[in-house]
Amino acid sequence: PLQMAPKDLVFQVSHNDSPMPAAERDAILADPPFGSVFTDHMVDICWSEKGGWHRPRVQPYGPIAMDPAAAVLHYGQEIFEGLKAYRHADGSIWSFRPDQNALRMQRSAKRMALPELPADYFLESLKQLIAVDGAWVPSAPEMSLYIRPYMYAKEAFLGVRAAKKVAFYIIAAPAGPYFSGGVKPVSIWLSTDYSRAGKGGTGQAKTGGNYAASLVAQAEAAEHGCAQVLFLDSVEGKYLEELGGMNIVLVYKDGRVVTPQSDTILQGITRDSILQLAEDAGHTVERRPVTLEEWRDGVESGDIVEAFACGTAAVVTPIGQLKSKDFTIGDLDQPAGPLTLALREKLTDIQYGRQPDPYGWMFRL
Ligand code: PMP
Repeated sequence: PLQMAPKDLVFQVSHNDSPMPAAERDAILADPPFGSVFTDHMVDICWSEKGGWHRPRVQPYGPIAMDPAAAVLHYGQEIFEGLKAYRHADGSIWSFRPDQNALRMQRSAKRMALPELPADYFLESLKQLIAVDGAWVPSAPEMSLYIRPYMYAKEAFLGVRAAKKVAFYIIAAPAGPYFSGGVKPVSIWLSTDYSRAGKGGTGQAKTGGNYAASLVAQAEAAEHGCAQVLFLDSVEGKYLEELGGMNIVLVYKDGRVVTPQSDTILQGITRDSILQLAEDAGHTVERRPVTLEEWRDGVESGDIVEAFACGTAAVVTPIGQLKSKDFTIGDLDQPAGPLTLALREKLTDIQYGRQPDPYGWMFRL
C-alpha cells in the first residue's frame, strides 16, 4: 500500500506564462517523437546534508543554472528513473507501479551515495506535475507521457566524495513507440569487446555512467544494422545480461519463460510484471543464469522459440535476430512470437485501462 504525501509537503507552484499553444501541443501529441519535446513544467526538490529534503516546487520547464564545479559534471554522481503516464478512455491519467520506480530510485541512490527520496515524495511529485501538465498525456493508442525523474550532485567542489547538496527534478516528454517499426522483430548486436557493468560495480543502479559506458557498443550495433546491443557478463563473457536499455526474456517450446538472473543488471519493472503475467497464465518462469550457448543451441534445436526485450520505453519488443562478429541466429522475417504478443497485449491492456487491473499496479495521478 502506498503512503499518502505528508501534510507538510507543500509544493510551491509557479505556472509557465508562455506554455506551448494547445494547437501546437495537440499536433505533437498526435504523433510524438520519443523524448525530444518536453512539457511546460518540471518538478524540483532540493536536498542538503543540513536541511534534508526541502523547497518542493513546480516551475516552468527551462534551463537549470549550474555551478561549473557542480560535482555531477566531474564525478558523474547521478541517478534517474523512467516511467509513463497513460490516459484511459474516461480521460483519467494513470501510472504503472510508480512505487517500484520510487523504491528502485532509493536503491540506486544508496549505491551512488545520494540521499534517498521518500517514496511518498516521489509519488506526490508525479501528481503535482500531472496536475499542471495533464493535457500533455496523449490519448491515441500506444502513446503515453514518458516521465523522467532524476537526481544529481549539485554541490560545487573538486574532490571525490559524496556531495552535500543535491537536486531532484522531474521532466516529461510525450512518447510514441520507441522502435520505429512498432512490434516488428528487431535485430540485436552481441557486444564482445565491451562490457556494461562489472562485478561489484553499478550495474544494478540506474545511473548515467552505465549508459555512457554503453554508447560505443550501441554505436557498433547501429553500424551493423542492429537496433540494440546485448551485453554479456564481464567476468566470463558467457552469460546473458541485458540490452543497453531493456531486459531480455527467452521462451521455450515447452512454455518455459527464462530470463537472466544477475546482480549486475537493472531489475526491470516491466520484466517483473511480464513474468508475473506469464506465471499467472500457467507458464513456468525461470530466473537464473542463462548462457549465450544455451540461447544459440536452443534456437538451433528449435527448443527456444521466442525472444523479446522489455522495458518501460520498449514495452515488449520481439527479438528476431542476434548478430555478432562470428555468427547470426534467428531470422528477421519471422513474425513476432505468439507469447510475446500475448504478454504485450495483457500488459498494455492493464496500462491503458482496457482490462481490469487485478494486481493493483495502476496508480492514479
Ligand atoms: N535495463 C536497462 C539497462 C534499462 O535502462 C531499463 C529501462 N529502465 C530496463 C532494463 C527496463 O526497466 P523497466 O522495465 O523498469 O523500464
